Amino acid sequence: MELKLDNITPEEHEELQRTVFMSTIDQVKAWARSNSLWPMTFGLACCAIEMMGTGAAHYDLDRYGVIFRASPRHSDVMIVAGTVTKKMAPLLRRLYDQMPEPKYVIAMGVCATAGGPYIKSYAVVKGVDQIVPVDVYIPGCPPNPAALIYGINKLQEKIRYEAKTGKRVTSR
Ligand code: SF4
Repeated sequence: MELKLDNITPEEHEELQRTVFMSTIDQVKAWARSNSLWPMTFGLACCAIEMMGTGAAHYDLDRYGVIFRASPRHSDVMIVAGTVTKKMAPLLRRLYDQMPEPKYVIAMGVCATAGGPYIKSYAVVKGVDQIVPVDVYIPGCPPNPAALIYGINKLQEKIRYEAKTGKRVTSR
């Protein structure tokens, strides 16, 4: 039977609102992707200890679908947790290049964001966004697990927003 939307009872209208969900394929894909982020197992300095703590039992990142992977080819998120030295920078870029699209970067802590306490060091990159495009910056030295979870939630929102608008926004 064909349903006439302009001639339905209030009960039918309520039932439709409760059971029918309209979307686009892109938005459904973004919803699935944002709820199954797989970061690469990749830590550079002290911030990585907080990242490891966030993945462990107490904070339990798995409940957000965030599962760390041991290979860049299995990963769609790079959490840059720590100080990026100039010696490490080309290797970081190579790992980023090995990740499949679509991929995202979180700069965790002030070192990854802008050099942090090593801002005057000749050996440290003043922000990982000079090497790879960054989606989310998390301040702190180090950011605690709650801050990292907040940053991941922001990345999830961003992925869904980008699917809705068709625009990708990164640091460059
Ligand atoms: S931001 Fe602070 S805690 Fe994080 S890597 Fe730099 S010095 Fe260590």
